[in-house]
Amino acid sequence: MSAVRPETLAVVAGRPAAPGAPLNVAPTFASTYRDGGLVGYGRWDNPTWAAFEEAMGALEGGRAVAFSSGQAATAAVLDRLALGATVLLSADAYTGTAGYLAEAAAAGRLRLRRADLADPAATAAALDDGVDLVWAESPTNPLLDVVDLSRLCRAAAERGVPAVVDNTFATPLLQRPLEVGAALSLHSATKYVGGHSDLLLGVAVAADDATHAELVARRTLAGAVPGVMEAFLALRGLRTLAVRLERQQRSAGVLAERLAASPGVGRVRYPGLASDPGHRLATAQMRGPGAVVSFELATAEAADRFVAGLRLAVPTTSLGGVETTVERRSRWPGSEGIPAGLVRMSVGLEHVEDLWSDLDRALSAAAGPAPAGASPSPAPGAGAGPAL
Ligand SMILES: *Cc1c(COP(=O)(O)O)cnc(C)c1O
Repeated sequence: MSAVRPETLAVVAGRPAAPGAPLNVAPTFASTYRDGGLVGYGRWDNPTWAAFEEAMGALEGGRAVAFSSGQAATAAVLDRLALGATVLLSADAYTGTAGYLAEAAAAGRLRLRRADLADPAATAAALDDGVDLVWAESPTNPLLDVVDLSRLCRAAAERGVPAVVDNTFATPLLQRPLEVGAALSLHSATKYVGGHSDLLLGVAVAADDATHAELVARRTLAGAVPGVMEAFLALRGLRTLAVRLERQQRSAGVLAERLAASPGVGRVRYPGLASDPGHRLATAQMRGPGAVVSFELATAEAADRFVAGLRLAVPTTSLGGVETTVERRSRWPGSEGIPAGLVRMSVGLEHVEDLWSDLDRALSAAAGPAPAGASPSPAPGAGAGPAL
């Protein structure tokens, strides 16, 4: 099976082979099983999780463990570390990862260091300072910096430090971190893998069997198990990931070019743009630049007017769905270092010309006075967690 291309694996991996079997494993809703079989109790394993894990493992070239969300996968990986361990996290990173680590650091469980992992000298200096785990994203959320993963994993390995790569933005179809030396590739399957904005799920894919076994043990003990229906839907989503991504990526390229040429739009960040600082590296390292585009408007107010002026793209957080979603990223707590007017857009499957008409109209609205009745993109309510 490993001889076929990733697009094919996404369709066939995890499919039962027995004569008479359904084409895909059906959702098995069971908290427990009669004695004498393979599974036992519902928190230990489930055939529907196993099919999804087999497919993700085949795509990433490792062994996958599914969790109830991307955050649960992150927590499982970090909770394996010894008390007082130091984690090096990229300067730009998903707010949930940074938030989890900041909380662990504040409570004295872990130490947190940040560095620009796209800068080899800064990375080497940080690694030399006693790091137990390095956690990278590439492209990063939301600034879309591209990190040389092969170089990073090599620098980490030279010092005996395992590297974790959050592969949510790229998906295993665009890059395979384990191949370049990462110990773990992690996903919020909530995003591109599920692909339809209707589920939460996470996956950690381990390069070696011992790490895989430890993660399964953590999941069993901590109980952050995936929902059966979620695992079923995520595998169904994975089957169409290649065609979704191909179209989303093509549209993202067109929209990024047009945004870059638009008056009123500052810097556009998209690794697919020839002018992007990450372009050369992304071209060498990835099979495609992905479908998230970030761009800067002059102020937070202009970005809010832009978002409020959209009629087709949905003003919301999250990404990777069939629908185009847009938000001003700095509205969330924990977004220090994010330009105030930065808009993150996840390009969906709508016709690219319809999307451009929508963006173009909203850009005109953003440039003018605030339209009557337009509400700014809401800040999270009291008690809301960090941004997605
Ligand atoms: C959303 C996201 C996560 C967290 O995943 P959830 O499924 O929301 O828990 C982790 N990393 C990245 C890059 C994300 O975008």
